[in-house]
Amino acid sequence: MWHEAWIDVMSSSERNALFTGHHVRPRFRAAMILILLACVFVADTVTDYEIAFAVFYIVVILLAIGFLSTRGVIVLAGVCVGLTVLSLFLTKRGMFEAGLLNCGISVAAIGITTYLVLQTVAAQASAFEAQTQLARVARLTSLGALTASIAHEVNQPLAAIVTSGHACRRWLEREPPNLEKAQQAVDRIIHDANRASDVIVRVRGLARSELPRREALDFNEVIRESLVQAQTQIERNSISMRLQLADGLPPILADRIQVQQVIGNLLLNAMEAMHDMPTFKRELEVVSFVDDAGMATITVTDSGIGIKPVELERLFDAFWTTKEGGMGIGLSISRSIIEAHGGSISVSSKPRMGATFRVSLPVAGANAW
Ligand code: ADP
Repeated sequence: MWHEAWIDVMSSSERNALFTGHHVRPRFRAAMILILLACVFVADTVTDYEIAFAVFYIVVILLAIGFLSTRGVIVLAGVCVGLTVLSLFLTKRGMFEAGLLNCGISVAAIGITTYLVLQTVAAQASAFEAQTQLARVARLTSLGALTASIAHEVNQPLAAIVTSGHACRRWLEREPPNLEKAQQAVDRIIHDANRASDVIVRVRGLARSELPRREALDFNEVIRESLVQAQTQIERNSISMRLQLADGLPPILADRIQVQQVIGNLLLNAMEAMHDMPTFKRELEVVSFVDDAGMATITVTDSGIGIKPVELERLFDAFWTTKEGGMGIGLSISRSIIEAHGGSISVSSKPRMGATFRVSLPVAGANAW
């Protein structure tokens, strides 16, 4: 449903660019692989047995790395070996013995390259996995430390309130009751309750990261900065990216760091949702535009696992997560940040069809908060 709504606010040229212009990368790479495969086969077949053209299949294998899955690369290597042998029997010129030798060398080169490259990719993947685990542990550890310090900070005034409460009762139970002392105890209770409440306010501020600093910001620039921060992970996950930023977007009045946090969290979630997809199916689309209500809007669409309807209702709840080692606070914090800015955040998705997150923020001068 969202899709139609937001596509309507774009001009037809923007729409065309969105659905055709930036979407060529995976297809382009697949075409390159096929063309190269055909070229090497033809060249290997029409040239003499003495020319070992088939070693160029190595380039085909290298091009496929990061584009095809491990199994896909192995199948492709098998195809390359098959074509090398086929060329041997189709070639008409030169000495067959030399051709046989070159065929053996080429097949060995293809096999060794495939093996080494896949080993390297696997090592990289496990190093990346270890890094991610480490980051998770760090996040959990800092959450644990934060929880402990909150508990400590809140516990102190609560304990003081209980003590003052007991004291107050004792002063009141006296014959005659000591009203002055009882009043002092009540004052201490109010003071300590205010202290506990201050701690909670501070923690909420912390969850939104420091004091919000609202300034007029170029929304597209904030989006680009968030993408730069996520760039390494986008590349490492072989995600093809479509970026469609509207020209002449009015500035938003917002806290740069907080908005970047929200966008960064959406990008991270999108990448994690596509983790189990084959690399050529991993697509991330980021679009900015002004919506019908005049709000500066960004949509982040992924081609990941999507979200079930029952999950949609709970997505923004604190500590709700479907990930092993997830914390389930990213979206809940994102919502509180966006709502504190007078904006809105929503999601639309179908299971296994990816998800679209939409964030709208008031533009500077709109006086929303
Ligand atoms: P976490 O990432 O730690 O689980 P979040 O609050 O950021 O916490 O996300 C909560 C849950 O929302 C995730 O566990 C996941 O199930 C779901 N989710 C968020 N973004 C996406 C997405 N792009 N695609 C599918 N599910 C998502």
